[in-house]
Amino acid sequence: MSENQSRRSFLQNLGVGLGTTTAAFAVPSVMAIQETKLQKDEKKLGVALVGLGSYAKNQLAVGLENAKNCYLAGIVTGTPAKAEEWAKKYNLPAKNVYNYQNFDEIVNNKDIDIVYVVTPNSLHREFVVRAAKAGKHVMCEKPMATSVEDCKVMIKACQDAGVQLGIGYRLHFEPFTQEIMRIGQKKVFGDVRFIQTNFGFSIGDPTQWRLKKAMAGGGPLMDVGIYCVQASRHVLGEEPLWVTAQYGPISDTERFKDVEENVSWQMQFPSGAMVNGFSSYKSNIEQLYVSANKGFVQLSPAYSYGPLKGKTHEGDLKLPVVHHQTVMLEEICKEFLATKKFPTHIGGEEGLRDMKILMAIYEAAQTGKRISLV
Ligand code: NAD
Repeated sequence: MSENQSRRSFLQNLGVGLGTTTAAFAVPSVMAIQETKLQKDEKKLGVALVGLGSYAKNQLAVGLENAKNCYLAGIVTGTPAKAEEWAKKYNLPAKNVYNYQNFDEIVNNKDIDIVYVVTPNSLHREFVVRAAKAGKHVMCEKPMATSVEDCKVMIKACQDAGVQLGIGYRLHFEPFTQEIMRIGQKKVFGDVRFIQTNFGFSIGDPTQWRLKKAMAGGGPLMDVGIYCVQASRHVLGEEPLWVTAQYGPISDTERFKDVEENVSWQMQFPSGAMVNGFSSYKSNIEQLYVSANKGFVQLSPAYSYGPLKGKTHEGDLKLPVVHHQTVMLEEICKEFLATKKFPTHIGGEEGLRDMKILMAIYEAAQTGKRISLV
């Protein structure tokens, strides 16, 4: 089994992500997802994927095939064989197929409304900035970048160009995630006192970019721990006051020369709620447990592609199972077609908020100090 296959099957077997903004701690209605049906005459937005790796191929391209208000209109790839394969499969005209060198010519392509960046993390900044300069609205995968500074540059580039910027926080549109956010924020089981959230998997190929700090920005925290940070913020509808953190021991010196093998962290929120988080490239684990003063709610799997599963002290959560990338793309495009804006809860500011917390967790783990976030 290849690395991509083993990561994919792990994510599928378990279930991944959450989302918000300051104004974005709003809890969307689960049923809103079901209402994404379009008027027959509504325009379909053209999306160009940049970086045709595992997530683009196996999840986003499928979402674009299923979505009613957007479609795969173009591709940007450094691999000629992939250009040929994708152009054939999706019937793409040659003028909508770009490589990383001629990508900027996309400025002249009216078929492309949105550029969706799905490259390794360290390249997000470059392609978001180039897409913005080409006057295209931009979606960018999580984590938004590999530093706080890069996130700020990306936000400014999109503001300067007058284009929208969104981060691929697919779980913002997922019913189980929306329900756990509603229960937490509306205090359905009283005040949330404690959250335990863990996400890790056993990583394969020791040569892959995810294990290189310069490309990934860090290890499992950047890749999957971000879902735990998102979940904590969105269940509580608050921003953390401080973090403490500890790296775990390195048991595999071949793979973990450059990034952490695992990391644990603690956060306190203004309401007094405490969060314990854990992220790993060694342990298969995926759960979100929310303890409130009158009960509990938990998701496990909580973050991967689903189906997610959840229960409370009252019994199982019975909610629709959706294709995450399809509902995400449909909801973002629906909002854009109606308002010319992407939903604010998945905007660049949201990616920046997470990045500040991830960097504070690394600083806390490195220094042994409590790092203030206010
Ligand atoms: P991947 O390794 O499968 O694909 C990366 C793609 O980028 C490949 O097509 C590769 O050819 C291309 N690429 C361009 N320049 C490269 C370079 N210098 N080095 C290596 N590859 C280069 O990775 P992936 O799993 O598809 O992840 C891509 C992005 O999507 C990451 O930011 C990741 O965090 C994100 N992602 C998000 C989710 C989600 O659920 N939202 C899931 C998986 C991945």
